[in-house]
Amino acid sequence: MMATTHVFVALAAVTPVAVAVPEFSLPLAVGAIIGGLAPDLDMVLEHRRTLHFPVLGLAIAVPAVVFAVAVPSSLTAAAGAFTVAAWLHAASDALGGSPEMDPWSGSTDRAVYDHVRGRWIQPRRWIRYDGSPEDAALAAVLAIPALVVFDGWIAVLVFGAVVLSLGYALVRRRLVGWLPEWLE
Ligand SMILES: [Zn+2]
Repeated sequence: MMATTHVFVALAAVTPVAVAVPEFSLPLAVGAIIGGLAPDLDMVLEHRRTLHFPVLGLAIAVPAVVFAVAVPSSLTAAAGAFTVAAWLHAASDALGGSPEMDPWSGSTDRAVYDHVRGRWIQPRRWIRYDGSPEDAALAAVLAIPALVVFDGWIAVLVFGAVVLSLGYALVRRRLVGWLPEWLE
């Protein structure tokens, strides 16, 4: 899935909370955006392993959410949204393709690393690869609740990310041919 899809999943997840407690909508959105992007920072380390916690992430997200409900503040709301977003990112990576540059060829069977069982989870390939037509459709649909509920720069950011996602999806399969050989 595209980085933007992960962000839209996270924003869609916090949207009902932002409607219920609008005074925390900004920290919820910021936590969701950063948490949706953060796991992929391991691109420079061991991608889909170092910062991806598809199982453990839930054990971190649940207490963070409970704490945010018990002690509501901008900081706990943002932290709760961040942990949920990062867990959803890692868990949903299992539903997509493998992380190589041409995942449609299905050359590896590693989706995301399960630190609890100490093994790789196989890609389900429901979303065949990042930037696939179904990924773009999912991104556009998931962005709708965020566009309805959030305003100001968050809404502008979400709209820009939708445009970027659709553009990326249009050129995704040609992208591999444009890359220098050493990157492949
Ligand atoms: Zn990821």
